[in-house]
Amino acid sequence: MTLLDGKKTSETIQQEIADEVADIKANGGKVPHLAAILVGNDGGSVTYVNNKVLACERIGFGSTLIRYEDTVTEEELLAKIKELNEDVLVDGFIVQLPLPKHIDTEKVLESIDPKKDVDGFHPTNVGRMVAGLPSYLPATPAGILQLLTRYEIETHGKHCVVVGRSNIVGSPMSILMAKEAYPGNATVTLCHRNTVNLGYFTRQADIIITAVGKPGLITPDMVKEGAVVIDVGTTRVPDATRKAGYRLRGDVDFDAVAPKCSFITPVPGGVGPLTIAMLMKNTLRAAKREVYG
Ligand code: NAP
Repeated sequence: MTLLDGKKTSETIQQEIADEVADIKANGGKVPHLAAILVGNDGGSVTYVNNKVLACERIGFGSTLIRYEDTVTEEELLAKIKELNEDVLVDGFIVQLPLPKHIDTEKVLESIDPKKDVDGFHPTNVGRMVAGLPSYLPATPAGILQLLTRYEIETHGKHCVVVGRSNIVGSPMSILMAKEAYPGNATVTLCHRNTVNLGYFTRQADIIITAVGKPGLITPDMVKEGAVVIDVGTTRVPDATRKAGYRLRGDVDFDAVAPKCSFITPVPGGVGPLTIAMLMKNTLRAAKREVYG
């Protein structure tokens, strides 16, 4: 069994990006710049955005953090997005989700210029991904593709079972794994809450990618010997022995499942760390005008 080390892979990718930024600077090119809009003070969102800004500093990008109280109006937010769409300094920007209930998330995401939509959530980028055109891929599925590539995991002709169909992970993952590409060329089954007998499907899988958020959902009896298991699930469970009072658990019963696997991601330290690296990669691609010319 090989552990898929997302932390190390993320560091490698970020170093590759930092090297490229150093070259851009040395040649007098434009330094990539990422802006982030954060609404409210939710602990998780504040940490995620701060980590993104820190990553920018580490690899030599410029960054701007724009913060609003959760009382911000939709109009104010849309006005700021319009400003960022037009700002030539900013190559790409993100609006950290979730947004407060009084704000229409779809409207906000659709107001972002697809050329600057480095989260890859705009319908234009989603559509381009489905059509096989150059696009910004959402960070988590893109990170999983990187793990598969860098660990040289065979996907051609394999049966990949994706569990969870969210717009940001499960659905795009299922589309990407079915593409005529590497990683890809897999036969894909997409499971969700209404799937009857989940284990019937996962037991047939050469590759399981689970993005649900239910600790212990995937038990050893649901996994074929030699399977590749990628666990996106990240749930805080109370743990009095930890300073934070909680620890992170994936969807997979790791200790029991790992001995059956050829490859498996730990939680934490698997898919999670790759998300930031892939956001940085999308920002670099935006600065280089690689996707839209
Ligand atoms: P989500 O929007 O929370 O949706 C969960 C999905 O799981 C839904 O499609 C749901 O089906 C499905 N589901 C729920 N119970 C199920 C069951 N018993 N059997 C099969 N499917 C079931 O999904 P998400 O935003 O992708 O998040 C999923 C997990 O990944 C969370 O733990 C989240 O924290 C984590 N996550 C981690 C990263 C990262 O590490 N970088 C990034 C994103 C998300 P229905 O559609 O039928 O409701």
